[in-house]
Amino acid sequence: MKLKKIYEAQNPIQVWNARRIVEDHGIRGTILNEFAGGASGALSPLDAWPELWVSEFHAERARRVLHEASLEAPGHDWKCRECTEANAAPFEVCWNCGAPPASVALPSKTEP
Ligand SMILES: [Zn+2]
Repeated sequence: MKLKKIYEAQNPIQVWNARRIVEDHGIRGTILNEFAGGASGALSPLDAWPELWVSEFHAERARRVLHEASLEAPGHDWKCRECTEANAAPFEVCWNCGAPPASVALPSKTEP
């Protein structure tokens, strides 16, 4: 099975969030370079961002799902009420402490 990269971010938790979003839609995501940066001294941090890969067959839908998730979310970044860390709009939980935003925008449906 061929895989395609659909997302990457410097912070692994952003990638975990993205994987959760696509898996909510029944698409299995694989994270590469999940632990890069700390363990591997050979790669520069820029070369080793965590990446979200899905099967080529699902890549287009997964990208659309991520895109729609970012549209559904509030159009601006939000601040965590637990740890006051700033989070990007599409995040479902705080990247720092895992708390949900004050008003959670749940996906309307996972299946038609
Ligand atoms: Zn937090």
